[in-house]
Amino acid sequence: MSKKDISRRSFLKGTAAAGASLAAASLLPRITMAEDEPTSEFKWERGVFTDEETGWQLCDLETGELNLEGRGANGANAAVAAGTPWAAKAGLDVLKKGGNAVDAAAAVAFAISVTEPQASGIGGGGFMTMRAADGTINFINFRECAPELCDQSFWPVVQDPETGRYSVVGGANGKGGRAIGVPGTVAGMAYAVEKFGSLPLADAVQPAIDLCENGFYIGPTTGVSLESAYTNIVAYPEFASIYTLPEEAADELGRFTYFTGDLFKNTQQAKALKLIQEQGRDGFYKGELQDAMIKASNKYGGVFQPKDFEEYEADLREPVQGTFMGKTVISSPLPSSGGTCIIQLLNVLEAFGVDKLKEYGHNSVEYIHVLSEAMKLVYSDRSKYLAANTEDALVKALMDKEYAKYLASLIKMDSCLTPEAHDPFQYEHQDTTSFAVADKDGNIVCVTFTINGYFGSYVAPDGYGFLLNNEMADYDSNPNSPNAIGKAKYPLSSMSPTIVLNEDGSPFLAIGSPGGATIIVAVLQIILDTVLFGMDMQEAVEQPRIADNASANLRYETRIPQETIDALVALGHKVTPYSGDWDRSSGSCQGVLYAADGTLHGGADPRRDNKAFAF
Ligand code: GLU
Repeated sequence: MSKKDISRRSFLKGTAAAGASLAAASLLPRITMAEDEPTSEFKWERGVFTDEETGWQLCDLETGELNLEGRGANGANAAVAAGTPWAAKAGLDVLKKGGNAVDAAAAVAFAISVTEPQASGIGGGGFMTMRAADGTINFINFRECAPELCDQSFWPVVQDPETGRYSVVGGANGKGGRAIGVPGTVAGMAYAVEKFGSLPLADAVQPAIDLCENGFYIGPTTGVSLESAYTNIVAYPEFASIYTLPEEAADELGRFTYFTGDLFKNTQQAKALKLIQEQGRDGFYKGELQDAMIKASNKYGGVFQPKDFEEYEADLREPVQGTFMGKTVISSPLPSSGGTCIIQLLNVLEAFGVDKLKEYGHNSVEYIHVLSEAMKLVYSDRSKYLAANTEDALVKALMDKEYAKYLASLIKMDSCLTPEAHDPFQYEHQDTTSFAVADKDGNIVCVTFTINGYFGSYVAPDGYGFLLNNEMADYDSNPNSPNAIGKAKYPLSSMSPTIVLNEDGSPFLAIGSPGGATIIVAVLQIILDTVLFGMDMQEAVEQPRIADNASANLRYETRIPQETIDALVALGHKVTPYSGDWDRSSGSCQGVLYAADGTLHGGADPRRDNKAFAF
């Protein structure tokens, strides 16, 4: 196979469109570099992640097809499931060296910043849900927040006279300097390790520095997203400086950027990580890195001031809690809508009748119908009521079991609901990442964190090897929405790192997913699969998934039989297939389940480059 063939290949079933940009690459202008030439040292070496102990490989190097097998791992002591095998290994190594689950989680987060850079990293933010062996529950909010100078006039919006929908002129909430929120990941990890870790933060950063300096083989999901990002790589030279091959190599290979299977060293990001390693959170929020982030953001229209970074703080919050079939469900509070909506959905399904659902059977016509109706009801409430600063009383009312009974009474088995409100967050994302670390003593850390869209705002602080988020796109462009820009410090999120406990308080499950607003229903389905249907962790993660929301358009993975879909259409559902049997838009779930025999079962989603390890 020629090298050009490799560059043009679509690496993931169901993502054929992603390859298209490369087919035209030779016609595109040569990338203009930022002041510096790429600092990533070029070495033409190709390979795939290979587990030294088992020989398991992430994908086929020749075809780029992801390996659907062997993602889960069970162990007596601990399990880590994360967005790349490199990051999961980094977490496992910290545990083996005596670090606790929080130290390991921080190591995973920094390693993700290097090895899953399209999805998350130090330029973004997120949430951590924790349970300690003594039963203490904590939640850390490190969501990106709006800069102080951002108000309702930040982006001009237009309203479509026909649909009534609002949109931001030129998509300025999605890319460039005005899309960026103050990153929270470094503050979040520094806070977590200082308060709950057992090792210095520097130790959690080291595996990521090693990955930057020794290099790692780019996985298929990152490779495909680099292909898709080509136009923006051309438009943002600081972004280009991270991922373009040196000129000589580009000429030799007939392509401009690194792709799946290439050994990639991010010496730029090593520089940023060393500042964090040496100076802790100040190494990121002050000094040269602060300057570089402000300079880069404001070059592309941003309005950042030093105090936006200096005053950023991660904070400890009360997670939301509910119950389902006697188990306790603990998940994200505001600024995420995720936990509230998951608990509301579980309440509605419980009120509808879990025995009936079980009798209908997993992914049967009736089961999918009821789930879809519940999703429409809950997402309507979400778009109507939820913002980062919605008052507590309203959030509690949404999670009230009596209210759930009323909503469940609206579900009819012979017709479809037309929800009142339309959900402004109707589209799934394929970005973000979620991971879980758990040990035999019952210490659990579940983290979902993001830079929002793939490669975030496309703005990179020059010479530091990472992308800044475009989290501001999570505000609603409708000025009348509770989640309108300027009304709250944080844009509303859906990220839902969730922990489920048994009736006696012992741990049962940790689970999270990326997927924009679809996170909520991906996590919901894993809870139903494990709690209601008794599936094992990996089995649950691999089930075909569905999604619906207030726009009443039922999406489904095509492994669900066509006759099931036909029957749903006959009931009145508008349906749209996902692009394949395994579609990463339906979520990409990582979790750990405590099996009845006490072992830890790590589950990782084959829809992306995820992997679990255990010992
Ligand atoms: N920005 C989204 C949120 O906070 C996550 C994006 C995604 O998962 O794709 O909910």
